[in-house]
Formats: sequence, structure tokens, C-alpha cells
Amino acid sequence: MLPAHYYPALKKHQHLVGNYGNAWWAQQKEFASFNGPILLTTNCLVPVRDSYKDRIFTTGRVSYPGVPHIADRAEGAQKDFSQVIELARSCPPPTEIESGSIVGGFAHNQVLALADKVVDAVKTGAIKRFVVMAGCDGRQKARSYFTDVASALPDDTVILTAGCAKYRYNKLDLGDIGGIPRVLDAGQCNDSYSLAVIALKLKEVFGLDDINELPISFDIAWYEQKAVTVLLALLHLGVKGIRLGPTLPAFLSPHVVKVLVENFDIKPTGEVRSDIEAMMAGE
Ligand code: SF4
Repeated sequence: MLPAHYYPALKKHQHLVGNYGNAWWAQQKEFASFNGPILLTTNCLVPVRDSYKDRIFTTGRVSYPGVPHIADRAEGAQKDFSQVIELARSCPPPTEIESGSIVGGFAHNQVLALADKVVDAVKTGAIKRFVVMAGCDGRQKARSYFTDVASALPDDTVILTAGCAKYRYNKLDLGDIGGIPRVLDAGQCNDSYSLAVIALKLKEVFGLDDINELPISFDIAWYEQKAVTVLLALLHLGVKGIRLGPTLPAFLSPHVVKVLVENFDIKPTGEVRSDIEAMMAGE
């Protein structure tokens, strides 16, 4: 629910009080301790456990055997969520797993509203580099790479993020640069679009011909899901030197790798220190 808080239209509902849990892969544990009804509206559902199978629902494109599915809205009508609401009224409250607050909502409109401040910070050298660490998250231990990169990046860098990759570092206390948070979270994976818009706008503001001249590095968290579209969109924009990790796409046959390396200088993530040094050098 975290990105839901970033949408002004949803903020007006006072019962949207918080976020529970983390990236998709923790759902079997977190759905159990949430105690209330869960409505899946999109992908990233994993096999449903008995501990919450009686209070999970699907709608839209996602479905699961034996799980009630809320039907599409009829012409001119609304979806009928009454069974979800009814169940919510009888459930105990969630078991607390953490507390705190996170600053978010930095989709392109908001970042561009701050464009003068951001551009000034780049011109004065207060911000040396942006590092895009968007993408998916997974349960593999190797994904702590992104936590380690976020922790070790110099204080004059700003991380642009969207999607579940953020859960690897959005609870670190990384501070701000003159009021600009060091993690600018555009929202969910679909909001990666915003990161591309921000890059294109910065290119325009700085009067550059090539997106690769911007002080932006791309260190993308791979998983075989929507990150595919994010990667293809970045390649379409001509972005070069993207790092992908910690695993590489299954479709990367030797021939495809050759094309991507030769034309786009794509590389796998490596050691945290050397990757940061390279990124800070624009490599
Ligand atoms: S970022 Fe990836 S893992 Fe997370 S919801 Fe989007 S597609 Fe799923």
C-alpha cells in the first residue's frame, strides 16, 4: 500500500492510514500477521497459505484457484467490494511489525515542480550524481547488494527509485541534500515512467543532446517481471551503461548479450565498492 499514499486522490480517504509490510516476496509471512482481508489487484501473488486463505480476494487480471474474485464493474456501476468490507469489520487489527514514516511521492510532476531546486543543486555541485535503483525485489540474499550500494553511496548522490527494489534501502536514514531527500521514490513499478520523464526533462534543462551526458547512473534490480519493460524502455531512450543484477535475464542468449553489450554497454552488477567508484566516474 505504500505507493497508494503518494496519490493525492487517495490521500483524501482518512482510513488510508499506513502501509503494512514490504516487497511481494514477504507476503506469506506478512499477510498472515496482517490479520485483515487482502485484495490482490495485480500480479506478484505467490501460492496462498492456509493462514490467510480465508481472507484473500483477487480482482482485475489476477486470480487464484479457490480465492474469491471480485467481478469487473458493470457499465456505469462500481465494483462490489462488500464482502471484503464485511470481513474487515470482523477481523482483529494487524499485528505490528514495524513503525516509522517514509517520505515519498516523487513522481515526475513533483520532481519537476522542484526542478529549479534540483538543477541548482546539480550546478552548485551539491548533487554530484543521480543513481537510478529501480526495479523488482526478490528474496535472494545477493539482493542486499542494493542495500549496500545505497548505504555506501557518497552523501552528494540522490537515488531515484520505483518498484519493489526500494524496500532494500527505503528505511535507511540517508538524509537529504538541502531539503531534497536522498531517496526520491516515484512509486510503484509502473511509475518507472516518471524516472524516464525526469531524465528527459533534466536533459532538456541542461541543454544536452544525449541522455548519457547526464550525471545519472542506472543500477537496475532485475527480476523476470515488469523490469523487462523498464529495461526495454531505457534502451529505447538510448540509455547506455546500465548495470543489471544480481541475476541476469533468462532471455539473454549469447547473441542477445553480444548485441546489448556492443550497442548499449550493458553490464552485470559487481562488487559494491567498485560499482560505486565506476558510477561516480560516469562509467
Ligand atoms: S516492482 Fe516488480 S516485484 Fe514489485 S510489484 Fe512491480 S513487477 Fe512486482
